[in-house]
Amino acid sequence: MHTHHSALGLAAALRPVQPVTLVRPHAARRAARFFIEKFPGRSLYAVKANPSPDLLRLLWESGVTHYDVASIAEVRLVAETLPAAIICFMHPVKAEEAIQEAYFRHGVRTFSLDTTEELEKIVRATQGASDLNLCVRIRVSSDHSKLSLASKFGAEPYEMKSLLIAARQAADALGICFHVGSQAMTPMAYYEAMERVRAAIVEAAVTVDIVDVGGGFPSLYPGMEPPPLEAYFEVIHRTFESLPISYSAELWCEPGRALCAEYASLLVRVEKRRGDQLYINDGAYGALFDAAHIGWRFPVTLIRETESANREMGFSFYGPTCDDMDHMAGPFLLPSDVGPGDYIEIGMLGAYGCAMRTGFNGFGAVESVIVGDEPMASLYGAEREVARSSNVVKL
Ligand SMILES: *Cc1c(COP(=O)(O)O)cnc(C)c1O
Repeated sequence: MHTHHSALGLAAALRPVQPVTLVRPHAARRAARFFIEKFPGRSLYAVKANPSPDLLRLLWESGVTHYDVASIAEVRLVAETLPAAIICFMHPVKAEEAIQEAYFRHGVRTFSLDTTEELEKIVRATQGASDLNLCVRIRVSSDHSKLSLASKFGAEPYEMKSLLIAARQAADALGICFHVGSQAMTPMAYYEAMERVRAAIVEAAVTVDIVDVGGGFPSLYPGMEPPPLEAYFEVIHRTFESLPISYSAELWCEPGRALCAEYASLLVRVEKRRGDQLYINDGAYGALFDAAHIGWRFPVTLIRETESANREMGFSFYGPTCDDMDHMAGPFLLPSDVGPGDYIEIGMLGAYGCAMRTGFNGFGAVESVIVGDEPMASLYGAEREVARSSNVVKL
């Protein structure tokens, strides 16, 4: 991978025709160290947020030893990239063959489940293994989060008692896990979920060895300014300490977004302007799925050697494919004289951006370049916000 000092340096030197992914290893290291040092338990990286092997190695070198995966392909990827990593298979609905391969070929011992059918499947696939860590997923509210994960997975509170008792029989270590939804905007989300966990433990009267609070830790985007992560950690720590569990019980979390959002951004070129619409060379089928389909407003900066003196105005974007749905409403604030040939950096795409690109319509072959400048916003700087220019992350 090439290295450049900054997004501007790269745009000026290369004038790239294709979009370029800008990666910032220092930002991923900083996020990982923050979780390792400050989260009052173990941090598992949720691989789906960004499965780039370079990122996996960076996180590993920064002290992240456990990886939360959802598919057999992710199991294989982590096993190949980081042979000493501990892999946790946290999708509650797995193929029996996937469980079998994970257990026997890749040493996976931690599995999640939300039904007795899945429990039976795990027991069968591992031939009644006695060294399993089984995490029962409880359904919790996604009310405080920008992206719901509440309807698909998780046992209802009334189903938990029998499930916990059955899993206790099969498990070496028994866990309870949940996911409050992605981009949780308040620590209350975890408090409320932990109260459900408490009720389930009391009712089932089983010994619980692991409490896994899942992902959902937020990043910074325009119009979404969460409280500092320390506030989340404090609420989680306090409620964990008050649960009726053994002194040796472990606290886990599974951050995806918070560990990698700042890791990557995208440099795109404007190919055409029509009023307040900019036709750019990446879009809904590239790294901008969330911008198109759930109206996520990523921060943007016009990358020009001489800063524009023009006032900012709101733009929407069209991506490069021939599809009307390849549209991102924004509004994205840019100087009013932006036009064809200009480069725009779209920030905070390290999570669920670069990971979701497709090759649809022949677009999407994207080069990655390392840059050393700061991401457009950061939860981890000494100053929490490291804004490089006035039009990023309007709070
Ligand atoms: C997606 C997912 C995560 C990561 O969620 P973020 O909101 O990115 O932190 C963690 N655990 C599970 C089970 C997931 O499905």
